[in-house]
Amino acid sequence: TAIDPGWNFDNSYTTLPKSFFSRLSPPPVPAPKLAILNEPLAKSLGLSAEALQSADVVEMLAGNETPEGAMPLAQAYAGHQFGHFTMLGDGRALLLGEQMTPSGERFDIQLKGSGRTPYSRGGDGRAALGPMLREYIISEAMHGLGIPTTRSLAVVTTGESIYRETKLPGAILTRVAASHIRVGTFQFAARWCSIEDLRALADYTVQRHFPEIEAEENRYVLLLKEVIKRQASLIAKWQLVGFIHGVMNTDNMAISGETIDYGPCAFMDTYDPATVFSSIDVQGRYAYGNQPYIAVWNLSRFAESLLPLLHDNEAQAVKMAEDALAEFSKLYHGNWLTGMRAKLGLFNEEEQDEALIEGLLNMMKDHRADYTNTFRALTLNQPEDTVLFGTSEFTEWNEQWRARRTRQTEGTAAVQQLMKKSNPAVIPRNHRVEEALEAAWKEGDYTVMERLLAVLSDPYAYTPEQVEYTTLPAESACPYQTFC
Ligand code: AMP
Ligand code: MG
Ligand code: MG
Repeated sequence: TAIDPGWNFDNSYTTLPKSFFSRLSPPPVPAPKLAILNEPLAKSLGLSAEALQSADVVEMLAGNETPEGAMPLAQAYAGHQFGHFTMLGDGRALLLGEQMTPSGERFDIQLKGSGRTPYSRGGDGRAALGPMLREYIISEAMHGLGIPTTRSLAVVTTGESIYRETKLPGAILTRVAASHIRVGTFQFAARWCSIEDLRALADYTVQRHFPEIEAEENRYVLLLKEVIKRQASLIAKWQLVGFIHGVMNTDNMAISGETIDYGPCAFMDTYDPATVFSSIDVQGRYAYGNQPYIAVWNLSRFAESLLPLLHDNEAQAVKMAEDALAEFSKLYHGNWLTGMRAKLGLFNEEEQDEALIEGLLNMMKDHRADYTNTFRALTLNQPEDTVLFGTSEFTEWNEQWRARRTRQTEGTAAVQQLMKKSNPAVIPRNHRVEEALEAAWKEGDYTVMERLLAVLSDPYAYTPEQVEYTTLPAESACPYQTFC
């Protein structure tokens, strides 16, 4: 007798107008095998971790069987990719349905890498094991950091080879998200659907993510403002930990405010606003320092899509959108400044704080200091561990910072506590991620990845086990590069 996996699907997305999705069953894969399972996440979704390891449920995570109550579909969306508008949609993913959790929450359960869909264009609809494991690691690391994100429930290998530059093992990631509604979903509606359909999408989104504004007469402008607020919070969190998304196309910006689509993302090591890891981002459009500007650019595309709903008079609608968008930089900057104060152990506010912060960042840039480790060293009161130590400018800055801390009532212990909460001791360092991936997909040894995931699950713990994960790679001739 099989254990009940605990599926509890609703399929509210199918209540949207038909143009927003295509129902389909995924093409089968030959030999699905569980590679990794997120047991705590399974539990929180009301799923049985034991059942998820059974052969018949692994068939479901591979798309070979449809779980009870699921109505698989591919979502339609459009998007600006590196500034160019195009039709997209789930070309290699399927939404199984929405799992209703024991606590009454609703989460999309999506299979990524599940095969071709009506939106695949020339693509094979498949994903390779390495990148799916990479998304698993980075998304779970983001969750550990306390940053809103889609999560990873499982990765299964398919038993199929896929062809990129070389032959690679195929895999499917089970992705869990508050929803997969994107800026690009609204762009799709605005460009190719009726205003009734656009309104249906907006109403659905409000009901799903912003129920508190549902009864408001001006709910569409409130929707815009709420999405702006969530992105201003999210992007500040990225900047504060040095996360570089790498491909902030409008189809990769979630309306829920979660980080979505872990492709060429990576964490900055040496502090430099111009940092880019993605091999295809040759212009540096999605560089670390550009992320807040790209966010507001994307939000402008969202606002444009909503214009017909904002006001009957177009000039009025444009004015409403512009006013809402103007808030982004204030909100973002406020979040960033609050976060930076916390990283330096500052509880109260002073006019000169921003100059103090910029002073540190400028030194880090000039001396090619490691971003995470600099803040870690300051947190541990071990400035001698930074490359800045010994320079006259750092001595002067350190004295200003010390003096600044005397102008607040909190003592040393409270300062260190705040700094530990605000400065991760560990991040998914590129060389450690690569090492874990290679062991997993080349050798079938998942222990390296499991250990990395354990350390990343509580990056603010400052435990002895974390120390080995703070070391930098040997200086390499080739800069680290990521691929889509
Ligand atoms: P991404 O760069 O991952 O955000 O993907 C951009 C678009 O390309 C989305 O519509 C994806 O569904 C689609 N896509 C990416 N990889 C594939 C693939 N192997 N086969 C089909 N579509 C794909
Ligand atoms: Mg995408
Ligand atoms: Mg992707």
